[in-house]
Amino acid sequence: MKLNSLIQKEFRTTEAQKKALKRLDLNTLKDLLFYFPSRYESTEDLKEIKNLKKGDKIIIYAQVKKIKATKAYYKKIPMTEATLEDASGVIKAIWFRQAYISKMLAEGSYAKFTGTISERNGKLYLANPEYQNVSSLPIISEETLFQEKDSDSFIFPVYSETRGLNSKWIYHKIEKIFSEGILDKISDPISKEILKKYNLPTLKTALIWIHTPQKKSDAQASKKRFAFEEIFFISLLRAKQKTEYQKNPSFKISKTQKELNDFIKKFPFKATESQLSSIKTILEDFKKDYAMNRLLEGDVGSGKTAVAAATIYAITTTSPKNQPSAHLQTAYMVPTEILAKQHFESFIKFFEYLNINIGLITSSGCFKFPSKVNPTEWTKISKAQLLKWVANGEIPILIGTHSLIQKSVEFKNLAYIIIDEQHKFGILQRQKLSKKNRANSKTKELIPHLLSMTATPIPRTLALSIYGDLDLTLLDQMPHGRKPIITEIVTPQQRDSTYEKIKEKLEEGRQLYVICPRIEEPDPNKAGALRVKSVTAEAQRLKTEVFPEYEIGILHSKMKASEKEEIMNDFSSGKTAILVATSVVEVGVNVENATMIILEGAERFGLAQLHQLRGRVIRSNHQAYCFVFSDTKTEKTLKRLEALKTAKNGFELAEFDLKLRGSGELIGNKQWGMSDLAMEAIKNIKLVEAAQTEAKKIIEGDSELQNHPLILEKISELEKLIHLE
Ligand code: ADP
Ligand code: MG
Repeated sequence: MKLNSLIQKEFRTTEAQKKALKRLDLNTLKDLLFYFPSRYESTEDLKEIKNLKKGDKIIIYAQVKKIKATKAYYKKIPMTEATLEDASGVIKAIWFRQAYISKMLAEGSYAKFTGTISERNGKLYLANPEYQNVSSLPIISEETLFQEKDSDSFIFPVYSETRGLNSKWIYHKIEKIFSEGILDKISDPISKEILKKYNLPTLKTALIWIHTPQKKSDAQASKKRFAFEEIFFISLLRAKQKTEYQKNPSFKISKTQKELNDFIKKFPFKATESQLSSIKTILEDFKKDYAMNRLLEGDVGSGKTAVAAATIYAITTTSPKNQPSAHLQTAYMVPTEILAKQHFESFIKFFEYLNINIGLITSSGCFKFPSKVNPTEWTKISKAQLLKWVANGEIPILIGTHSLIQKSVEFKNLAYIIIDEQHKFGILQRQKLSKKNRANSKTKELIPHLLSMTATPIPRTLALSIYGDLDLTLLDQMPHGRKPIITEIVTPQQRDSTYEKIKEKLEEGRQLYVICPRIEEPDPNKAGALRVKSVTAEAQRLKTEVFPEYEIGILHSKMKASEKEEIMNDFSSGKTAILVATSVVEVGVNVENATMIILEGAERFGLAQLHQLRGRVIRSNHQAYCFVFSDTKTEKTLKRLEALKTAKNGFELAEFDLKLRGSGELIGNKQWGMSDLAMEAIKNIKLVEAAQTEAKKIIEGDSELQNHPLILEKISELEKLIHLE
């Protein structure tokens, strides 16, 4: 047996197992060794029904005596109700909103149930337990199991299963691999010094402990080690990328803050301190010999566009070497057409007085300002024409969607790239954009400066890990005179009075967003169908029952770009007073007169996402309102939502999300390419900082990692993985 032997070669596998292994991407023995249990069960949690108490997290083995789909009496919520029995007693199990379970578990069958004991009207029941069919009931007697109270109880791993492959099979194969002595051949990429310093188990020990722990603390220690390892490697990769990036020669721009004053003075507002200092930092970067790679992170509405515009001004007013009458060029990429158009229009306002060309490229057309016929207007032009002017340098500022990355788009003097809402783009897309100078251009060997911008509030530990290759600037101040949004948590009883309040404001001419969790009504017969408000049904209801005298528009991701644009135009111009939408409006949409937002089904969103949605209405100095509609009755959820009223900014809310609901709630958590284990570990500031510190130390002493071959191998693998996403 070798680490890289194929599982199918070493073990007899059925067709179903082969398929299942493929689905899980488990090919070699090594893959199997690194397929970690999703949780552990302990004989300590194994209970007899007669001994259950409220609040216990338990496992029972029981027979399903009766099972049926029914409806909860108070709200007509579909559910499954079952009576479970073991040798000691009987208990009810209830699955809310999961009527389909009545068809999955047969009366008379045996199963293992895992869950928490709840109580209603003095009766205990098992709420939404997980279940797993078994062929018979094991003989359990708690007395015999717990005779030796002192000894640790037995704990066993549970692996995520898939059709054809069960947890037990995986466990036995791993035990077999262990018994072959393979672990002795694995070398540990983390040095003994580091392991000792942070009290982490070696790779060999950690593998044994994570699959076959003797006690819970063993499993815990291994998890810590693997989480450290992952964050350590990410940090190493980022640190290495950073030193590499700094080898890229770039355009040296020597504008001073003073030279930008004319431009900044023309803003229709007074720039915040935070905006000014961000601009200054970026100007400093421009002066260096290598390309800037910076992330500007600022809450929704903190005014990132103005920072972008001022720094673009520095680029635009600089001429490329030996081309005194030309301008250096900027590419500004945004994720949606709506946003591209909006930026095009606001950049025209910013730069109009300079008499320069501004271009817009999206998949539905190309535009240029100014028009030849009418110099105060923009005009539609052919793509070929636009590309020609970009390639010969006549359009210094080009705004666009993904269309910017197309092969046909080439610049003459591209010196600055701005990626707005950068979390919507992948690394590859960013890289492509930085290689856009024409092959025969004199500036080909220079890499443009790169500014990424995001409003995604993420906890500091996560930012440290995933953005370690970027320099970070926080825009942590809101524009002057902004009144804080008045946020109210609205219970079902308060709905009507809230609608009345909203009507008053609509009458004053303000506008309203209504955000719903989904686009259309779910099919009620489908398994797991959620009864939450949908855009289409809610818009209809509001029109007939609540706001009959107002025009209502709807917006969601399944609409065509042209439809979306029309809807947005109608809303910006005030033709529609109310816009019912899914969270697509989350990204950057800017309608100053829309000062109210209703968030339906708020308990389903993370706090940071609610905060971003709420940010739509902090676009002017009118008092803004956010109504957080929630049907929840649980104290805890209401309390969580209350944080929206007290938290100072999005970052604080992201920290709350992390603490209260775990990393699963962080906005965009799927795209960072981190395992669940590492995502959980980012709660631990000390661990993240330790991994960072050690990574930096290694790169400082050995930037090419020539003396650390094992680490180099690991992070090359990681780099490939990230590139594949
Ligand atoms: P975001 O950071 O979300 O991209 P924007 O750049 O779109 O924010 O700015 C939000 C709004 O605030 C815009 O209408 C913009 O004109 C305005 N704004 C930006 N900076 C200031 C400022 N310093 N004072 C007043 N209003 C500002
Ligand atoms: Mg923005």
